[in-house]
Amino acid sequence: MSAPASYLLERALVALPGRPVEVRDQVRVTVADGRFTSVEPDSPDSPGDPSAVLLAGLTLPGLANTHSHAFHRALRGRTQRERGSFWTWREQMYGVARRLDPASYGALARATYREMLAAGVTSVGEFHYVHHRPDGTPYGASGAAGGAAGGAAGERENALALALVDAARDVGMRITLLDTCYLAAGFGRAPEGAQVRFSDGTAEAWARRTTALRAAAEREGVVVGTAVHSVRAVPPDALGVVAATGAGRPLHVHLSEQVAENEACLAATGLTPTALLDRHGVLGPMTSLVHATHLTDDDVARIGGAAAYASFCPTTERDLGDGIGPSRALAEAGARLTLGSDSHAVIDPFEEMRAVELDERLRTQQRGHWSAGELLAAATYDGHTSLGFADAGRIAVGARADLVTLDTSSPATAGTGADEQTAVFAATAADVVHVVVDGRVVHTSADRAAIGAELGAAVARLHDEPPEGITDDGEATP
Ligand SMILES: [Zn+2]
Repeated sequence: MSAPASYLLERALVALPGRPVEVRDQVRVTVADGRFTSVEPDSPDSPGDPSAVLLAGLTLPGLANTHSHAFHRALRGRTQRERGSFWTWREQMYGVARRLDPASYGALARATYREMLAAGVTSVGEFHYVHHRPDGTPYGASGAAGGAAGGAAGERENALALALVDAARDVGMRITLLDTCYLAAGFGRAPEGAQVRFSDGTAEAWARRTTALRAAAEREGVVVGTAVHSVRAVPPDALGVVAATGAGRPLHVHLSEQVAENEACLAATGLTPTALLDRHGVLGPMTSLVHATHLTDDDVARIGGAAAYASFCPTTERDLGDGIGPSRALAEAGARLTLGSDSHAVIDPFEEMRAVELDERLRTQQRGHWSAGELLAAATYDGHTSLGFADAGRIAVGARADLVTLDTSSPATAGTGADEQTAVFAATAADVVHVVVDGRVVHTSADRAAIGAELGAAVARLHDEPPEGITDDGEATP
């Protein structure tokens, strides 16, 4: 039970009954037990409640980051400096993956989630695949606790996943932990090098472990969803097991990020990755296809026909040189767009929103594919719904009380209208000055220096300290 609170929002993007989502002035909201109990635009300055907190600027609903790998934050500024490709970047990423332990990963995730909160993210979809010790043995298997709290086997073996869940809840962010099945290095190839940490051996063993994780982790603000890492990492005959185990929950898949993945899938199965997922029951209205970059017209029709989500991660896709996915075509076919920061080369949901439109302009040499309102819907309500939080992402009576307030007089935002266009085409993460999640204030701009210090220490710990029990041999190959 939290104390009732009242805010007076100078301007806010609200969802009033019978009206489109729109920016209104002088919006008074009241909050009880983490939800909005009233949303009233055109309220007077002195509403008769002197305790009402005035939030100047433009206030948005909470933003959802639908695709995160928290440990990739340790790579920012370190992997951009060389030439190479997605596959050479992956080698560097595996170098960090091999060094993680529950304590160091929990610390990095906590700092990374604070950076997300500071950018207005109130729910994260954490696509989690580093499950086991560096040599592939489960945490707790040799009697060591592995850093997990509690004594139950389901907690010990999920020590890394629980470190992430605890990190998110500790800083006040909701989390959907997408427990990822990862069984192969490629079609017909066993896991290699760092990948042995990712594999449960069989889909059945993954299913048993993720069922234990649900029991250990799920509580208010925590959803345990499911993920297929990719068609290259989950053999075709295991896809059905993952889909069945994840039924009724968010199900995420990396899809066709690279042309090489498509070519390998066609060679091994005669199908595109999308058609292969469709054949094995992975496409559906709770499925999120991450990236969805290199698609055929038939793929687009299948994804749209399933009313699936397409989770685009434009800043990562540009960083890795992936290409530009057909966002508008997917939406026209019936898919719903969401947005993620994936590798965290950038954590800025405003930049992700505008990048969808600006990438389409580069690709087509035409302007005006996505409206600001559509992109805000992707970043707020649709994103939350895809993560299993359908009661979040709107400033509306009954919804979870998230408020993300932008400074509309900053160097970036001044003179831009303080409306949807400001949020999508002008603002940056640095303009977020106040964040409320489930009725609790979880960030103000006064926290920025502390977040930087926490991130610096967490990243340095992974790069500078010698890893325990890890040798440098067994280098992975892409
Ligand atoms: Zn990813």
